[in-house]
Amino acid sequence: MSGFNEYSTIAAVATPLGTGGVSIIRISGEDAMLIADKCFKSVLGKKLTDSDGYRAHYGKIFDKEKPIDEAVCLVFKKPHSYTGENVVEINCHGGIYITKKILQTVISCGAVPAAPGEFTKRAFLNGKLDLSEAESVMNLISAQGEQGISAAYNMLEGSLSKKINEICSSLISAAANIAAWVDYPDDEIPEISDDNLKIILNNANNELNKLLSRFDSGMAVTSGVEAAIVGKPNVGKSTLMNLMTGYDRSIVTEIEGTTRDVIEETVNLGGCLLRLSDTAGIRNTCDEVEKIGVERSKSKIERAAVIFAVFDFSKPLSDEDFELIESCKNKSVIPIINKEDLKPQADIDYIEKNLGKCIYISAKNGSGYDELCSAVTDLLNTKNFDTSSAMLANERQRLCCEKASKSLTEAENALEIGLTLDAVGVCIDDAVNNLLELTGEKASEAVVNEVFSRFCVGK
Ligand code: GDP
Repeated sequence: MSGFNEYSTIAAVATPLGTGGVSIIRISGEDAMLIADKCFKSVLGKKLTDSDGYRAHYGKIFDKEKPIDEAVCLVFKKPHSYTGENVVEINCHGGIYITKKILQTVISCGAVPAAPGEFTKRAFLNGKLDLSEAESVMNLISAQGEQGISAAYNMLEGSLSKKINEICSSLISAAANIAAWVDYPDDEIPEISDDNLKIILNNANNELNKLLSRFDSGMAVTSGVEAAIVGKPNVGKSTLMNLMTGYDRSIVTEIEGTTRDVIEETVNLGGCLLRLSDTAGIRNTCDEVEKIGVERSKSKIERAAVIFAVFDFSKPLSDEDFELIESCKNKSVIPIINKEDLKPQADIDYIEKNLGKCIYISAKNGSGYDELCSAVTDLLNTKNFDTSSAMLANERQRLCCEKASKSLTEAENALEIGLTLDAVGVCIDDAVNNLLELTGEKASEAVVNEVFSRFCVGK
């Protein structure tokens, strides 16, 4: 991934680049201690190459002959480290310049700069964690609030991997049984009964569907779900966005079509993390630039886990409102009646009949905000979210799970209509392959590289 061979010794700053008490430069690879010894001298004169693992050494960092900082070096010996390789962590003073300077010194002593996520990728390649656990590191970093931390921590501890492995092993033993029976008809291998097979497929599919149904709630408490504010121009979308973000992120004007593109921001609403977009509105327009924005708004509606459909309390419903109601039907929508401080004109009954209970707010003066937060937690079902149960950590995992579930449904249908057992076996194999891709046991190099490229450098 980095262009260097997998065995080179890598280094990067593991702490955020900013001014603080302490910064950490992490070195991982066969020569970690050897390289650190070239620029670090302990006050006791002990070489890091002679050190036991899990030891801290106090001393000085040298750039050539010149001391540049005091530091504590932590030594971890393979395989007992985060990456499974030899690791040295240099704890130095937390200034941006000094941290960069020490990293440069380490690199001049023989380490190569680590690529994004390369430490965690090596941990994965060395069997320290599986792919889904590695991904949960990202969820833990981005988690906000008690629920988020607890859910991400359980993922990191392997709650999802354990669940997927259980499902996989029941499917693999069923598939093996079918394969043996199909391949060796003359041997006395007992045919797995249709009823038994149905139970196995049904149980496995139920478990996968449980995971899929918890996806949005889990994401809402860890790394956030997509949410969109939609509505015709001038209903108060930008004002609502500003109310949610707590500052003037969107431009508020009285001229229609001011927000020409999608503006995105992460907000915490009632403990739910939303990646919120204030959209261009969905008006019919001849303005080419605005047209692109309108198209993006429409695609946001298709993808979003929460849609805030905003209507103006003070105006009768227009064609654009009716069009919006149609496109939001049967979606995860919260209908919002904005400008409740003004005289009512809108046909609320019609909106409620089509989209469910409305929330009344005034985005301008902040009334109705608490009700809006409750509506979000109800919709995403986060209040009673069980953080100790297995959950999917991202879209990649959700897709693998969805494909596996689809294959199991096909297997169940094949069984139902009396297709041969090997046809059922093919569907089960597909399901297993998707689950093994989820945990990384059978993920292609391209998938693995893609996963780690989303990490930050130093992780
Ligand atoms: P957008 O085009 O949907 O983004 O609408 P804006 O947020 O730009 O708001 C359009 C106009 O409506 C502005 O003049 C806002 O001040 C006003 N407005 C927004 N929310 C409210 C509200 O709750 N009450 C009143 N009276 N005016 C509002």
